[in-house]
Amino acid sequence: MSRFASLVSLAALALSVPVSAAEQGGTAKTETVRLADSKLQIELDPANGTLRQLAQLPEGYNQLADSTEPLALWQIAARDGETSYTLSAEQAGLPKIERLTGDQPGLRLVWDKVAAPGKEPLRVEVLIRLGQQDESLSRWELSVAKPKSLRLTQVRFPRVPRVRERDDEVLAVPRALGALARNPRSLTRGKNNQGTRLVWPYPFPLNMPCLAFYQDHGPGFYAACDDSQGYRKELALWSDGQGRVHFEVVHEPEQEAAELAEFRLPFAVVLGAFHGDWTTAARLYRESPAAQAIAARGRLRRQLTPAWLSETGLWIWNRGRSPGVLEPATVMRKHLQTPVSVLWHWWHNCAYDAGFPEYLPPREGAEPFQAALAAARQQDVHAILYMNQRLWGMQTQSWIDEGAERYAVKGPDGKVRPEVYNVFMKSPCVPMCIGTRFWRDKYAGLAEEVFCGLKADGVYMDQTGVMASCYDPSHGHILGTGRYWTDGLAALTGEIRDRCATRGRVALGGEFCGEPWIGNLDLTLALSVSADRIGSSPVWEPIPFFQAVYHGSTIVFGNYAGLVHPPYDEKWPADKTLPGTLTLLDRKLSQQFLLEQARTFAWGMQPMLANFLPSQLQERPEEIDYVTRLVRTRMRSLKYLLYGTWLRPPALDVPQQEIDVAQIGVYTPLRASKRTYPVALAGAWRAADGNVAIALASIHDEPLRLQLPIDVQTYGLPARCAVYRIDESGRQRLGQFDTRDPVWQLDLPPRGLCLLEFCPNEKE
Ligand SMILES: [Zn+2]
Repeated sequence: MSRFASLVSLAALALSVPVSAAEQGGTAKTETVRLADSKLQIELDPANGTLRQLAQLPEGYNQLADSTEPLALWQIAARDGETSYTLSAEQAGLPKIERLTGDQPGLRLVWDKVAAPGKEPLRVEVLIRLGQQDESLSRWELSVAKPKSLRLTQVRFPRVPRVRERDDEVLAVPRALGALARNPRSLTRGKNNQGTRLVWPYPFPLNMPCLAFYQDHGPGFYAACDDSQGYRKELALWSDGQGRVHFEVVHEPEQEAAELAEFRLPFAVVLGAFHGDWTTAARLYRESPAAQAIAARGRLRRQLTPAWLSETGLWIWNRGRSPGVLEPATVMRKHLQTPVSVLWHWWHNCAYDAGFPEYLPPREGAEPFQAALAAARQQDVHAILYMNQRLWGMQTQSWIDEGAERYAVKGPDGKVRPEVYNVFMKSPCVPMCIGTRFWRDKYAGLAEEVFCGLKADGVYMDQTGVMASCYDPSHGHILGTGRYWTDGLAALTGEIRDRCATRGRVALGGEFCGEPWIGNLDLTLALSVSADRIGSSPVWEPIPFFQAVYHGSTIVFGNYAGLVHPPYDEKWPADKTLPGTLTLLDRKLSQQFLLEQARTFAWGMQPMLANFLPSQLQERPEEIDYVTRLVRTRMRSLKYLLYGTWLRPPALDVPQQEIDVAQIGVYTPLRASKRTYPVALAGAWRAADGNVAIALASIHDEPLRLQLPIDVQTYGLPARCAVYRIDESGRQRLGQFDTRDPVWQLDLPPRGLCLLEFCPNEKE
């Protein structure tokens, strides 16, 4: 009997209830409890519940290495009065295992009497169901019946032992916009190969609770949480020092499940197998019930964003008084002949990262500021103003006058948690608690003055997503970890919109692409596009994981790409000004600039140019020309690059090139290095009308002749269809695509940008 046949017959038998360990005992081969449908097979060790097999069917490739060693399926850290202890499935003995009835095959594992010596026992129940999304996925749920007085400080579940080692391993995690590591096992080795943990807390910096650990274009392990409510959790991979890599989800029950007789994980964890790459994993997550629910809340999808926002062709991210911000933006607007919007830093009265929230009045005075904004709007230039939505400077007068400390985040010790960002002033700033009405009122009041008083177009709420666990019992929220941070942001944005409604739609932007907030924020900034510039580890490549899930639901804007040395805030100490402020960067760094812009284009973000000065039109004509062509091409392609659904782009057979890059920022002196990147990149998008386009961006000085293998099946193309090219000059018909020859040849000029469009409904 073939392996496949044997799996199917066992799955067919999987109907009876209950299953005892003894029933499964006997030979080594059958010492597991199996659960299978036509897509996935799971095997558990009946002695302790350790997961032994997670195999996609019909291939039967087991994502887990063969092993008989236990790794507890769950681990619970508990506290009873002053005593803390850990309980685990491994110590808890034989679970009772039953098959679940219902449409989908499932198992119930029950550990009836789980107890530390001398303690009252718990009952732990695990439910496993197959058939999630009609894919090779399984749902894992856990509940704990316990004495009310017992606190659960942490629950680790499910725990997956020994992800099988494969060739060409890749780890993709939706951290920030998304990040990908090749040879990820090496990251878990730790010092002296002792092993270390890679931990991603959600919803920040992990913006979606999923990850994919796979062989490139081969078998892969997929884990996710089906949680549409944004509960805090961590996904973790760790090595035990012998190169064996395990996975778990770590939960911190809200209020440590105190006073509850039963704690139930508020969402299911999803474990599965797939074949492909991170695009496959992103599709699995995109199609999950949780992601569908979150996407439906997206303000772009619900057409709740101000119209000017979706019509924005380019963002200018400038700092300081209006002549250095709005005037360059207006020049650029004329140059592009496309609406330009401004992300405006350092407009405020206080010193950046020191005097927050003493933003008002604008440093140039309210009246000139308001007049400049009005004049800019006449020219189709809109502006959102920077205001940090969590920091209060401890050295400000308002900190004392308004009694802010009372409403700041407190640690378990009851003390505030100062943070220092400003390297020139070393000013301590304190995170404020968004769970307090005081802070929400304070911030919403400022936003109202900005939008209704100064008549700016919106607010950039910096550091959205940077959460805290607050332990101040006077704030009225639960103590410690909790969803109140996410709820607080929803309340805050709701309050800002209520206050601003008299004037129209306020645009609210945020930092980091957290999925829980896409119903609250209109747009979110993606700095990881500029990974080298912001000093990210080169071990992690940026990927558009977030875009592959939520494109069309929310607007992602930006990068950190600029052509000059960063400015210095006039409110900072003059004697510490860095040399070369706003002077041109070395031309050798242009490839880095082009790469950042190319990613922004191919990955469907609104493009941005930081620290733009009109002189750059003459001094950096080629770089500005690149941005110009990019903007013009993109504006003809919004059904793909703003609203489209991500598809796997064809692999580009193009050279790799070593380029000069620099880490540089307002606090970071230039640090140059070299990196190797392909000279062109691609994204692929399906529009709502079924047309598909491949966005291509070259940063190469030479022309490229691309041979593009077209994925006819995934793209849904008929035997023949019309092909167009969209670029800065317009949309031109190139000819007819025929599936008998599924490789399309395309010539890209030096630094060329275009979309190759396939129109299934145009067959002639
Ligand atoms: Zn608080």
